[in-house]
Amino acid sequence: MTDPAFSSSDFHAQSSEHVLINIQSQTDGLSGEQVKQRQQQYGPNRLTPPAGESNWQKFLRQFKNVLLYVLIVAAIMSWILGRWTDGAVILAVVVINGIFGFIQEGKAEQALASIRNMLRVHTHVLRDGVRQQVDAEELVPGDIVLLESGDRVPADLRLIESINLGVQESALTGESFSVQKNTDPVSAEAPLAERFCMLYAGTLVTQGRARGVTIGTGDNTEIGKIGNMLRAVEPLATPLMKQLGDLGHTLTRAILVLTVFTFLFGWIWRDYPVDELFMAAVGLAVAAIPEGLPAVITITLAIGVQRMASHNAIIRRLPAVETLGSVSVICTDKTGTLTRNEMSAQSVRLSTGELAVSGVGYHPEGDITSDEQLPTDAQNQTLQRLATAAILCNDARFDQETLPWQLHGDPTEGALLILAAKAGLDPASVQQSTPRLAEIPFESSHGYMATLHPAPEGNTTLYQLLLKGAPEKVLGMCSRVWTPTGSRPLHLDEWQQAIDSFAARGQRVLALAEADTADADIAMIDNPDGSPDLSAYQFSLLGLVGIMDPPREEARHAIAQCQQAGIRVIMVTGDHASTAAAIGSQLGLSEPLQVITGSELENMSDAELQQKAAQLDIVARATPAHKLKLVAALQADQQVVAMTGDGVNDAPALKRADIGVAMGMKGTEAAKEAAEMVLADDNFATLRTAVLEGRTVYDNLRKALVFLLPTNGGQALVMIAAILLGITLPITPVQILWINMVSAITLSLPLVFDKAATNLMQRSPRQSNEALLNNVLLFRIAFVSVLLMALTLVLYNWSTSQQPDLARARTVAINCLVGAEMVYLISCRSLVSSTLSLTSWLENGYALLAIFLLTLMQLALTYMPFMHMLFGTAAIDLSDWLMIIASCLLIYLLMEAEKQLTPRLFFRK
Ligand code: ADP
Ligand code: MG
Repeated sequence: MTDPAFSSSDFHAQSSEHVLINIQSQTDGLSGEQVKQRQQQYGPNRLTPPAGESNWQKFLRQFKNVLLYVLIVAAIMSWILGRWTDGAVILAVVVINGIFGFIQEGKAEQALASIRNMLRVHTHVLRDGVRQQVDAEELVPGDIVLLESGDRVPADLRLIESINLGVQESALTGESFSVQKNTDPVSAEAPLAERFCMLYAGTLVTQGRARGVTIGTGDNTEIGKIGNMLRAVEPLATPLMKQLGDLGHTLTRAILVLTVFTFLFGWIWRDYPVDELFMAAVGLAVAAIPEGLPAVITITLAIGVQRMASHNAIIRRLPAVETLGSVSVICTDKTGTLTRNEMSAQSVRLSTGELAVSGVGYHPEGDITSDEQLPTDAQNQTLQRLATAAILCNDARFDQETLPWQLHGDPTEGALLILAAKAGLDPASVQQSTPRLAEIPFESSHGYMATLHPAPEGNTTLYQLLLKGAPEKVLGMCSRVWTPTGSRPLHLDEWQQAIDSFAARGQRVLALAEADTADADIAMIDNPDGSPDLSAYQFSLLGLVGIMDPPREEARHAIAQCQQAGIRVIMVTGDHASTAAAIGSQLGLSEPLQVITGSELENMSDAELQQKAAQLDIVARATPAHKLKLVAALQADQQVVAMTGDGVNDAPALKRADIGVAMGMKGTEAAKEAAEMVLADDNFATLRTAVLEGRTVYDNLRKALVFLLPTNGGQALVMIAAILLGITLPITPVQILWINMVSAITLSLPLVFDKAATNLMQRSPRQSNEALLNNVLLFRIAFVSVLLMALTLVLYNWSTSQQPDLARARTVAINCLVGAEMVYLISCRSLVSSTLSLTSWLENGYALLAIFLLTLMQLALTYMPFMHMLFGTAAIDLSDWLMIIASCLLIYLLMEAEKQLTPRLFFRK
């Protein structure tokens, strides 16, 4: 770090030329060699994360819970009372629990970390004179970075070029308004917020375009210096987890009170020895407290997140995993999400008539014909003029090395370049020979793009302004139509008809126009809302281009599935209403289509809109502001809304939506950061899959809960019942600890891995206020608890009646309780439908594995002398096993019967 470049701290006071020299770079970027060398010297461009918890700390943290405190006290008490083995067993349970918790947490963390890696930030740089996309971490001082609206600034930069540049620097200064930036140096004393020629890492480009030279990376950036982590790691917490955590605490408290009462009862009214009673109370507490719950919830969510990621849906905020399952309306972009974003121009309308274009994809071959004839001279000249404008007023570029050509940039613009190539022009050389002097970049909020160039030969003025955009916008600025022999007045009706006819074929329509000007800059008047205003210019229309963007096949299927699942799909697009409607019917949106335009939406009152939104299928000519209004209206109607978006201006709507969904490929950093979820492949079908997984996560959580609570409840009831009845404990406290531990290690997790139930996408969305456990499930939890208790007591009695051997009767009771838990696990694989089928038993490999391992452990407990010594168990015979198996199967049938009967008999709606 001894490079003199870094020691200079007043780049803002130097001219950009000076900075380039100081930092040993040049306008066309560093060479590959320099980059390599500097990467070694300065390291990766990332902030050093604050030191996290060490493994030891994580391990110790596992012991910070009430249950473990109870156990530790119990262990000490047992030693005081002279029960050495019991104390040792308790301590072993404490340690094993800790290790298990530690492993589980590690797994969950790993799952989430791998997802964070998928969200790397990319940035555009100029190296060796070539524009390329690199991982932001690879930037080095001296790199020339290219930015446009929506980009996150990846490092500290000194501007060398800026066009209408606005930057939001709240990450650094706390100021949420956009600051205008330019390349002029400022005084050396200027505070950070007033260094208008600098861009700082972590801030956001809200408008315009910029080029800057990197002067600081990683910890050497301003944000690195104030040590403010940009992407602080989010804690693993969601509303549902919190709710369940609270439930856990309440339960724990209630259980402790119950334990004390049971203890007092046994002490006063039953004559148990105090030390035995104390141990029984500890066993009761341990059995009853659902200590596995937090881990199960964390793992369920983590697995959900991981599964979604494997399907290209990347969760940025964990609570989204839960919310996804209750989504009732999806508002989705059309272009690229429902369609393939493989655009090809198919029709052209000129002053001289309509032309048809053949050929698809990014192949520059295809014919342009008029009624199957070659175009006339006049048509050809107009076409050339339009094609030239289409090349110049365009930011896309093709890599022409291979066929099909490789597009860099917006597919809409790519389609225009291909059209120009088919008209016989070479896009690259036209762009080379005609420099761009100024520009207004395209934003969906104003709907067009304009560029300024030297005028072609034969023009009366020096400069020419080119305009391309949505036809209504462009036509609104044109009073004349360009023809080879001079311009003539524009007849709006005639052009409107052409627009309608293109749109009705599902084509995206763009208009192109030009204006002469004597100014070497774009003199634009800003509208009050900040959008540019070009009304000072006299534009002549060059023509219209109709671009086809075929729907995605999988989107059609996904829409049908969403509709079946009770989720409404609303297409929100910047395109023309008829274009959107044509694509909408091809995709199977519900007929008859209810279409409104953005401006209609804007003019509705909130109440009107709320009513309209309940049946809406398409919003056309929508801007980001309309998206926001739509989300609000749907939410006012109690809908849970997922909204997709890609631009900077979409951020407010994404934030407002219950699930903001950003596009991974065409989306800006700004949109991604506002979103809960990112679709790595921009595909609507992925969104559908994420909703399905969201429902699965919720389902599995519920299953795990319905499984865990009664297994704990059953164990606890056995202890309570024995003490209340004053009988010998059918299961001793250490034996309860054993059951609790082995079932936690094996049975608590398999349900988490269950795949989506087959009928999951036929159900309607869950109400967002619906309780996790409804009455039917609460009843089941009580029922199964009692069932497990009764079974244990009955088998214990049966065994003592056969042969008065306490150790043996207890072993029968334990095995029976564990066996019943195994069959209940299978029964819980579905909370509503029967699991009396081979698939239900065999489908979930984790469940089978758990049952297998648990059986091994039980056999060890039953037959190993060492275990007999620790746990007071004894070997049992075949006849005992047959009885246990038969009772467990009977219990299973009872559970399945209850599942069918209870909802019908007691909780009929
Ligand atoms: P979408 O939701 O379909 O992506 P946009 O807001 O991007 O909608 O586009 C709206 C309209 O703006 C399009 O129908 C088209 O007429 C026009 N348009 C789209 N992209 C460009 C562009 N790069 N330059 C000029 N006009 C464009
Ligand atoms: Mg777009």
